[in-house]
Amino acid sequence: MLARRGISVLGDFAVSEVDGPKRVLRSFDGRETNYDLLVTVPVHGGSDSIARSGLGDASGWLPVDKHTLQSPRFANVFALGDATNLPASKAGAVAHFQSEVLLDNVLRFLGDRPLAPAFDGHANCFIETGYGKAMLIDFNYETEPLPGRFPLPGIGPFALLEESATNHWGKLAFKWVYWNLLLEGKELPLDHRMLLAGKWS
Ligand SMILES: Cc1cc2nc3c(=O)[nH]c(=O)nc-3n(C[C@H](O)[C@H](O)[C@H](O)COP(=O)(O)OP(=O)(O)OC[C@H]3O[C@@H](n4cnc5c(N)ncnc54)[C@H](O)[C@@H]3O)c2cc1C
Repeated sequence: MLARRGISVLGDFAVSEVDGPKRVLRSFDGRETNYDLLVTVPVHGGSDSIARSGLGDASGWLPVDKHTLQSPRFANVFALGDATNLPASKAGAVAHFQSEVLLDNVLRFLGDRPLAPAFDGHANCFIETGYGKAMLIDFNYETEPLPGRFPLPGIGPFALLEESATNHWGKLAFKWVYWNLLLEGKELPLDHRMLLAGKWS
């Protein structure tokens, strides 16, 4: 898709210098490239308040078990979302999937029952690709995004790893779902785990 649009990707380009007048970017490993419009994302880290609290790691992320969401140092601490050190995407969809596991595990902890190692790193998101189309990707800790259909295996209506107008309309419709179902705490008929049915590699 990028090739079709004449977009090249320079991976692992850690910017060491921006030469504004010449419109050149240089990297620590000696590469350079020019630009017309520069949009940079600063190196990100955890929260100062987490770092100060003594709960976090050196970068201010809150370490938790990647499957149970329990802190390895403080058994009565569970965490989800952007604040954690989990190797999952920092995304609202992920925080939502984690919330189901976290709630179950807090109840298990309070009831003295074994925790469920149930969070699988599941993430999914629409990616607008322009011209009235969007992509949809769905993946977890173990499985890279695969082609297929979502949410109903074989049926869809959304296409994974493919640009489609239906995906774009799905993204627009999700706004309504977000405000009227998710924020109201209503159940969606979707499992928090990634399903492999209806996907192919
Ligand atoms: C521009 C943008 C676009 C995004 N688009 C998408 C998308 O399309 N799809 C998607 O899935 N995700 C998207 N995300 C990511 C998503 O918003 C986050 O992953 C998600 O909000 C994380 O939820 P959270 O509850 O962990 O953290 P947050 O939503 O950041 O909530 C943390 C809360 O804690 C509060 N807080 C912080 N410090 C303190 C303190 N010391 N005391 C008290 N309160 C405190 C903050 O004010 C905040 O309200 C986007 C993020 C950004 C920035």
